Amino acid sequence: MIILKSPQELAVMREAGRIVAQARRLVAEAIRPGVSTAELDALAEEHIIKAGATPAFKGYHGFPASICASVDDQVVHGIPGPRRLREGEIISIDLGAVYHGYVGDGAVTVPVGKVPGEVLRLLEATRLSLVEGIARAVPGNHLSDISHAVESYVVSRGYSVVRDFVGHGIGQQMHEEPQIPNYGPAGRGPILKEGMTLAIEPMVNLGGYEVFVEANGWTVRTRDGRPSAHFEETVAVTAEGPLVLTAE
Ligand code: MG
Repeated sequence: MIILKSPQELAVMREAGRIVAQARRLVAEAIRPGVSTAELDALAEEHIIKAGATPAFKGYHGFPASICASVDDQVVHGIPGPRRLREGEIISIDLGAVYHGYVGDGAVTVPVGKVPGEVLRLLEATRLSLVEGIARAVPGNHLSDISHAVESYVVSRGYSVVRDFVGHGIGQQMHEEPQIPNYGPAGRGPILKEGMTLAIEPMVNLGGYEVFVEANGWTVRTRDGRPSAHFEETVAVTAEGPLVLTAE
């Protein structure tokens, strides 16, 4: 069942999303060669708590940190630690916050120092595929119109979409129905309605779409070892169009 949110609930989710967006920006601004992923995690956690929220990821199915920090060929669910970032890497930061019982979820991929042009283009294409997907989050569309828009854009740029991990409904739970694949034909699945809240999150690979989970049970990596990018926003379907909740 897809849970529709009232305007009052959307207002709370907007605040949860704002906290996520602020933390995401603070972390992005701190990314540079030499910083450790544990330091980035601490920065996000401090902001979330100061803002009166709770880190949504910490303890979620036992996840040990407040952010996911996924470097280069790590797609999602990288665990922060002593690893120090190096010039030329990319890092995906995914984080969530619970505010007054409602969850916001957002991600961004950031270059560390100077990064090869083909990798910067992957980041930009992934970000723009999310923009394409969000634009379809309007009442009356089918859910898979979002999926298809993301995939079409990604494929047009010559990249591949991760299939084993998908976006999701979000609200009082971080993961609610529906699942939102980043691929597939348009015109399928439920009809979008006002009050639906969706975490749309393309994961895009420079090489092939295949991924695997590391022995730690969390970290997802590309099979071919090539880089992967991830952008995510929490979005509400409204009569006025898509409303990005994870904005400042
Ligand atoms: Mg998510």
